[in-house]
Order: sequence, then C-alpha cells, then structure tokens
Amino acid sequence: MTPPNTDTITVYSTVWCPDCRRAKQFLGDQRIPYINIDIEKDPAAMAYVEKVNNGMRSIPAIIFPDGDILVEPNNAALAAKLGLQTEASRHFYDVVVIGGGPAGLTAALYLAREGIKTLVIEKGGMGGQVGITNVLDNFPGFDEGISGAEFAGRLTRQARRFDAEILQAQEVVRLDKQEGHWCIGTASGQSYAARAVLLTTGTRYRRLNVPGEDDLLGLNIHFCATCDGAFYKGKKVLVVGGGNSGFEEGLFLTKFAEQVDIIEFLPEVKASRILQEQVAGKSNMTVTVNHAVKAFKGKNHLEAVVVQDRASGEVKQLAYDGVFVFIGLTPNSQLVQGVVDTNEWGFVVTDKTLMSSATGLFVAGDLRAGSTKQAAAAAGEGVTAALMIREYFDNVRFKG
Ligand SMILES: Cc1cc2nc3c(=O)[nH]c(=O)nc-3n(C[C@H](O)[C@H](O)[C@H](O)COP(=O)(O)OP(=O)(O)OC[C@H]3O[C@@H](n4cnc5c(N)ncnc54)[C@H](O)[C@@H]3O)c2cc1C
Repeated sequence: MTPPNTDTITVYSTVWCPDCRRAKQFLGDQRIPYINIDIEKDPAAMAYVEKVNNGMRSIPAIIFPDGDILVEPNNAALAAKLGLQTEASRHFYDVVVIGGGPAGLTAALYLAREGIKTLVIEKGGMGGQVGITNVLDNFPGFDEGISGAEFAGRLTRQARRFDAEILQAQEVVRLDKQEGHWCIGTASGQSYAARAVLLTTGTRYRRLNVPGEDDLLGLNIHFCATCDGAFYKGKKVLVVGGGNSGFEEGLFLTKFAEQVDIIEFLPEVKASRILQEQVAGKSNMTVTVNHAVKAFKGKNHLEAVVVQDRASGEVKQLAYDGVFVFIGLTPNSQLVQGVVDTNEWGFVVTDKTLMSSATGLFVAGDLRAGSTKQAAAAAGEGVTAALMIREYFDNVRFKG
C-alpha cells in the first residue's frame, strides 16, 4: 500500500478523470506543489485509494501533509482546506483592485496604507506572472536577484500588513457601473461595490490553437515551466517560441529534462543576445527556426508533435514527452471589452492619470496600452494609479 508523502499534497488520480484534472488545475493555478499518482499505473496506490474510500475507487483522493483526506472535493472545499480567504468582510470598498500581480498588490499597499478601504480580488496564485518567474533578476533593490515566488509572497504580506483585504481563488466575471458606483461580481456569485476600480489583470499566454492541443492541455502541454517542469525529470521536452520567455523557460527546464529543444515559427529567434548565448552553451538544447507546430497526437498522453518546415513544406512527427508553449501574450481585458477604449490588440488605453475612458476605472501594469511588460514598471504603475485614485477621490469630494 502506498503511504502518502508527508511533506507534500498527494493527488491520487487517473488521466481520464475530468474531476481530477479540475482539481489539479486548481492546485496548479494557486501554485500549490503536489505529487500526482496515477492509480491505474500503481496497484499499491489503487489499494490505498480503496482503503481510504471504504472499498470504492473514488478519485481524486487528495491527501494533505496533516493527514486530512479530501475525496472528490470541489474548488471551494479545496480553497477552504488550503486556508485561502474567498469572501470579503464588507460589501462596499473605496477601491476594488482586480488582479493580484505586482501592479495590483503595489497599488493596494499604497492605498491601504493611507487608510483607503481596499479589496484585492485574485483568481490564481498571488503575484501574477512574477509568481511563476524563476528568478527576478532586475527588480531594483534585490542586488542578487530574488525568486519570483518569494517576491510574490513578500509583496502579498506587505499589502496585508497595511490592511489591504485580499481574496484568492476568486475570478471577477462582471464589472459595471450602477448609480455612480462600480459593481464587481465574482464567478462564485459574490458581489461588491466600490467608488473606484483598478484593473490590473495583466496578460495570459497565447495558445497555438491547433488540433490536439485541448486534449493535452495540463497533461503534456504546459505554459509554466516553474509549475510543471519537475514532471519531466530525465525526459525530452519541446519549447515552442523563440522569444525571451521561450529561451528563459527552456534554460530553466534543463534543470529537469534531459533534452530541451526550442522551435520558432519565424526564420529568426527574437530572444536577447545574452539568452541566445546561454542556450548555445548548453549541450542538451537545440534551436530550430522557421517551423510551425501543426498538431498534437495522442488523447491521454502526448504521442507526437506534428511540425512543418515552412521553407520546404516537409511535415515531420517528433517524439516528445512534454511541450511548453511561449508564443506571446493576450491582454486580460474581457471584462471591459466594449466598455472602455482599447488599442488594436485589446490593451486598455488610459489618460496620464491611468484612468480609462470610463470615469473611476483605472488601469495599471501589463494590461495598459503602452506598458513595458516589466515587473518593476508594473509596480511603478501601481504606485501611480494609487496616487491618482487618491487625487480622483479628492476632486470628486471638492466638486461635491
Ligand atoms: C516567465 C516570465 C518571466 C518574467 N521575467 C521577468 C523578469 O525577470 N523581470 C521583469 O521585470 N519582468 C518579468 N516578467 C514580466 C512580469 O512578470 C510582468 O511584467 C508583471 O508580472 C506584470 O504585472 P501585472 O500586475 O501588470 O500583471 P500580472 O503579473 O499578469 O498579474 C495579473 C493578475 O490578475 C489576475 N487576474 C486576471 N484576470 C482576473 C480576473 N478576471 N479576476 C481576478 N483576477 C484576475 C491574474 O491571475 C494575475 O495574477 C516575466 C514574465 C513571465 C511570464
């Protein structure tokens, strides 16, 4: 019988079980490390699951380090077990910040420190994209660099120290203005109101949108090497995308994988010279340009990646254990599409005070048109937004 690992969460699952995928996706989104055991490949694990379920093979069965076992838990039960705050203490706030990345958390700490009642609502792991950055090497003040996870943890604690309230695992799905106040609705059915909203929802990874991608997402196709790289110890992985992210994440993956190949659609890679040199210095990395990923084969695990040489037209099937996709960013502006002015790519346009075309709706960080997509810049925009919101409140008060 497989005893549960005592230090880490253990998820007993199978590849075909949608509920297992959902639970693992939730843990992944919250960046909670876990060990996955496929009970169909491990008879002792199967016996263990049957034992803890009174003879039934109910999965996912999730064993926590304190010995607690949750069987087929929904996301709310998982959030409760993980101690995440999912409901706010009030209904009305001065400012609701949507998104808990560097921009949102920095703004929240500035606002809350001035006594402005502030609620941050975050759907995934705290710290946004910084939280999945291996090493943040260029954030001023950290002379030796800092791991993204540690930076995210510090920033979150700093915002809480000044009494910013922070909800986790809560996705905002509705944002509109009623009788002069902004109304914010979450996927779990809660609603909040605020005098002003700061939108810092950042960006998300662009997908390839090729056949087979949906079936294998989260199984063998990933967007975060920090989260999923460890599953590929001693294996062969393909990184799609020859920009800075692809090269940086590819280098990180060599900590685990035996071979890391990068494939780029364009005839040239866009990664910085330093990153290109680092990759060239690795004996277990290759870079192939001018190739398009056309499809993924396999239902429950990746069997082949179908690629096409764009020069010759030749189609090849390549064998990889996993694929990591880094082909660009899409702004998370769905909440305000058609409500505020955006640029041609969907990034939100603001004035000098970081206010969008809707009064009282401010935007900071990567989501803002013209932003530089850097952590320190996003934090800086968070500061600016907080000060501009304070000024906005003052003006509203004086104008009566
Ligand atoms: C792999 C990688 C490496 C990087 N390395 C560096 C680096 O070394 N140095 C550097 O300066 N920058 C780096 N960056 C860029 C940097 O991380 C971003 O510029 C920065 O995180 C942007 O901050 P943000 O707050 O604007 O948005 P994000 O960090 O994207 O945060 C947005 C947050 O909003 C949340 N959200 C979105 N929609 C909703 C919703 N509807 N409801 C609730 N929450 C929502 C998201 O879950 C997310 O947490 C890196 C990025 C990546 C991906």
